[in-house]
Amino acid sequence: MASKPNKKATTGIISEIPECPVCFEPLTAPIYQCKTGHSLCNSCTRALLPPVCPLCRQDMTQTRSLLLEELVSKAQVTCPNKSAGCIYTMSNKDVEEHLKECIFKT
Ligand SMILES: [Zn+2]
Ligand SMILES: [Zn+2]
Ligand SMILES: [Zn+2]
Repeated sequence: MASKPNKKATTGIISEIPECPVCFEPLTAPIYQCKTGHSLCNSCTRALLPPVCPLCRQDMTQTRSLLLEELVSKAQVTCPNKSAGCIYTMSNKDVEEHLKECIFKT
């Protein structure tokens, strides 16, 4: 197999989170779909004025991609304060909870 192109390693994501086809950041819930079925991340969706898909120019819908959202919430990530020394690993959905008590927060 050919090796994958090198992705930028900014976030501490351990398991695979599908990335947004627009900004190439890992998808974050809520994930909305366009009429064609593209799934965009939360920040891209909110930045769309008017709300049309940047990829296919179809209207965005209020349909959430629950399958992707579940995948994203279950993905294992490292603490955002890893660079400060935190070695904590958790599901994506638990990050906010952990950050409240993370002793490495800045
Ligand atoms: Zn995006
Ligand atoms: Zn689209
Ligand atoms: Zn932490």
